[in-house]
Amino acid sequence: LKQFACGAVVPGCAAVLTAPDEDGILAQVAEHARDAHGIASPPPELVAQVRARITDVT
Ligand SMILES: [Zn+2]
Repeated sequence: LKQFACGAVVPGCAAVLTAPDEDGILAQVAEHARDAHGIASPPPELVAQVRARITDVT
């Protein structure tokens, strides 16, 4: 299981997303970014930051 804390990229955001794999995380991030942060399409730099901060959880 993978986990991503949005606060690692967006200071102050308490959202923590989990998914079975990295693609699932990125899909959830895209949805969360749009709904919570008004980012319609995350730029590649943001996606790279997200990828770098995805962690494994058991
Ligand atoms: Zn967020």
